[in-house]
Amino acid sequence: TDALTGLLNRHALYRVLEQEMERSVRYGNPFSIILFDVDHFKNINDTHGHLAGDGVLKELSGLVSGAIRQVDYLGRWGGEEFLLILPNTDSEHAETLAGRLCLMVKDNHFGTNESVTASFGVTIYCPGSNLEEMLHQADSAMYQAKQNGRNQVVAIFNS
Ligand code: GH3
Ligand code: MG
Ligand code: MG
Repeated sequence: TDALTGLLNRHALYRVLEQEMERSVRYGNPFSIILFDVDHFKNINDTHGHLAGDGVLKELSGLVSGAIRQVDYLGRWGGEEFLLILPNTDSEHAETLAGRLCLMVKDNHFGTNESVTASFGVTIYCPGSNLEEMLHQADSAMYQAKQNGRNQVVAIFNS
């Protein structure tokens, strides 16, 4: 567990990813992931201080936790980056959820009174590919969302 947010930590997320990959290969059900990162988080720390930054991460964790299904897994991938693992979820539903989360974050009033946005990368597990490939794909999608101007969702589904 991650100490600050109470979410799954990176190690736990890896375990879930491995489990879902196995399940997907065995039973043929799709699963998707959403990687997201707070935009210009450094500014929030610089303006309001590190403690306020921590507060934003906690509030964001609670906000997203409340908006997903019980069977979904939310964890802190590191720093101000989060990973959402969606069992039995196809690309279309994952992209829709990411869009909803993106709007929800933008519209939320955080304790700092600062507008907070995040950039989202979405991908689906392709049976036969490995974990690193999947994570790389989600990371590339998120990077594109940053490049395109942040506060948006990019989905990459090839194959
Ligand atoms: P971008 O939109 O490109 O993601 O810009 P950014 O400023 O969010 O990204 P950058 O990687 O430049 O800065 C991330 C900042 O997040 C720097 C680091 O100090 C801060 N950070 C990482 N972990 C924590 C944390 O646990 N608490 C606080 N308060 N800040 C953190
Ligand atoms: Mg960031
Ligand atoms: Mg980051």
